[in-house]
Amino acid sequence: MITTHSLGFPRIGAKRELKFALEKYWRGEKSDTELQQTATALRAQHWKHQSALDWQPVGDFSLYDQMLDMAQTLGCLPDRAKLGEASELDAYFRTARGRSVNDKEGVHAGEMTKWLDTNYHYIVPEFSQQTRFSLNANRLLSQLAEAKAGGFNAKPVLIGPVTFLWLGKSKDDSDRLALLPELLAVYEQLLVELKRAGAEWIQIDEPVLGFELDAEWQHALEQSYNRLAAAKTKLLLATYFSELRENLQLACQLPVQGLHIDAVRGRAEVAQVVDWLPEHKVLSLGVVDGRNIWVNDFEQTLAWLTPIYQRLQSRLWLAPSCSLLHVPVDLRSEPELDEELQQWLCFAVQKVAEIATLAKALTEGEAAVGDLLEANRIAVKARKSSTRVNNPEVQQAVAAISADDSKRQSAYTERAALQIEALGLPRFPTTTIGSFPQTTEIRQARRAFKAGDLAVDDYETAMKQEIARCVEEQEQLGLDVLVHGEAERNDMVEYFGEQLSGYAFTRFAWVQSYGSRCVKPPIIYGDVSRPNAMTVAWTSYAATLSDKPMKGMLTGPVTMLNWSFVRDDLPRADVCRQLALAIRAEVLDLEKAEVNVIQIDEPALREGLPLRRSDWQQYLDWAVEAFGISANGVADATQVHTHMCYSEFNDIMPAIAALDADVITIETSRSDMELLDAFDAFDYPNEIGPGVYDIHSPNVPETQAMVKLMQKAAAKVPAERLWVNPDCGLKTRGWTETKLALANMVAAAETLRKVA
Ligand code: GLN
Ligand code: ZN
Repeated sequence: MITTHSLGFPRIGAKRELKFALEKYWRGEKSDTELQQTATALRAQHWKHQSALDWQPVGDFSLYDQMLDMAQTLGCLPDRAKLGEASELDAYFRTARGRSVNDKEGVHAGEMTKWLDTNYHYIVPEFSQQTRFSLNANRLLSQLAEAKAGGFNAKPVLIGPVTFLWLGKSKDDSDRLALLPELLAVYEQLLVELKRAGAEWIQIDEPVLGFELDAEWQHALEQSYNRLAAAKTKLLLATYFSELRENLQLACQLPVQGLHIDAVRGRAEVAQVVDWLPEHKVLSLGVVDGRNIWVNDFEQTLAWLTPIYQRLQSRLWLAPSCSLLHVPVDLRSEPELDEELQQWLCFAVQKVAEIATLAKALTEGEAAVGDLLEANRIAVKARKSSTRVNNPEVQQAVAAISADDSKRQSAYTERAALQIEALGLPRFPTTTIGSFPQTTEIRQARRAFKAGDLAVDDYETAMKQEIARCVEEQEQLGLDVLVHGEAERNDMVEYFGEQLSGYAFTRFAWVQSYGSRCVKPPIIYGDVSRPNAMTVAWTSYAATLSDKPMKGMLTGPVTMLNWSFVRDDLPRADVCRQLALAIRAEVLDLEKAEVNVIQIDEPALREGLPLRRSDWQQYLDWAVEAFGISANGVADATQVHTHMCYSEFNDIMPAIAALDADVITIETSRSDMELLDAFDAFDYPNEIGPGVYDIHSPNVPETQAMVKLMQKAAAKVPAERLWVNPDCGLKTRGWTETKLALANMVAAAETLRKVA
């Protein structure tokens, strides 16, 4: 016997039902009851999708975020969320989304940050010395009852106490671990309640075991599970996304009844875990990748699993590597994808079926699932040898990359002298980050063109009109380095991916990013190449409309990689090099077309950092190299810009400097230039444009406020290396506020030229 289960299922719905219900509720168009009805229906559907497994997760569903749910269960939502007459549900959403400060009950939203190394964002729990906990088990108990009533084998899912503290933030710099004893008392109560309500197994997630932990945090894990053992429930301790390494023994020895590990990312240490795990514990192996969308190679997995099964027998559990939250719901929603590609892909519903198939093959023999194994073997084989996947030319080009390819010809100071001369820019030059307001007309034209309702010529005319308008406005505003405005782009990754070979696009393969927000990452399935120039025509057209320098705008290779589903048959670093070569070709074509300022956006560079710091450098090395390959083939007089959104630079400053972009623009206005502290400790050698205009708000910043921000910046970076620009692209803004804000920004630069 093998037990099968899943750690969690996407909650947004195959048709994004939850998204639309939430947004209606927030707009006041749906009642509390109607929202809950949608949620109940989705949960039932999701359990049904997982009914081929022995256990279905309960409590993984969330109306907004699982960490926020846990904070509510533990009674530690911030006080500001409880103001006034708020219902429990409103207090919950207030913590997530804040409430307008113009409102008399205005509160700011909880901080949001990336969930481990994924593109999902959670609401950061807030702690202080005053934090108290109290149990609110309603959500879990009622969902448990709901699942049981539906005839499902419910396994409640919780975030573990140590991970909960680790991923939270202390607002008064007090020690979060000091809260552990009181927190554990509430967890113990919760476990007792769940057991009383009929839960047999409880999954408790401690992905913190994938981080480098000091003695105190390791001790916290021991303390926690020694204490929780008193509840006498069966705990399945779950880790994911990382190897256990130095925490392996600790993970094996904690007093729980079972351990789940990520056997995709941690495959190499499974044998060791099998050796170390005490005989009374079950071992759940996450053998199906919960972070990616490829079919499992059954033959290979079964060959590897068979001896493990022979040894563990009924102690072996099988599951996806992590919650399926990070993959789209159902491949059957993509009938338009070509048949071959469909055979290679696998979304949440299909991953559940894979687990069931693997378990059956092991326990009943391969003949019991012979057809499925055969179909899988054919698909896997076809993918390996497909000419759509393998492009010898690309492979040769990657093999031929030399160390020089990622380096500029001369050092920054020499280049800067040439660029000043070539571009004739004033001190404190002004520019924008690329996109200008995307009006309804632009969106309509793009949509009509895509649907085939607008002829190519008409579409081009419409876009050119937009570009002309955008250039004209910039001229009038008096900006120094202009852009074409990105009217033709829907999304900064999709736009390029659609023009590259090796990329596929889906229509409904949405993955939750935060709250009701979803993203639809494109799929890199084969060697990436650039058949044709992607941006040259638009940029060159824009350049003809002005004597000012026109900046070419591209998305960088690391961001393309980190915001896509990436093939699993090639190391990420190699896929990134292929992307880098494709972007490099575009950069060189732009340069040939006399575009002498080129910006390569890398807002997702930081996101790719592995969980363990000891693995950071390796990632940064190839990420920096890839950026260099894309950008640094240009002549000294060509100015390379890069852009990153809000990002902590402190701990990756040397890598940022190693990109060697002539100019980096970043998001700093909201942090009141605090982000520039990183530039204090590390002498950043090149030019920088610290954003002075917060584009996330419709507010028009005052000239004087922007001057002040720049003066703060000038205290940290020499004035001759400073640029004046907004925080990020303007595509979500309206024209009216944009023009006012940019006029003030240009005025600020003029003031600075006189006084600073
Ligand atoms: N060039 C892009 C824009 O202006 C940059 C977007 C981003 O940084 N996310 O829209
Ligand atoms: Zn940005």
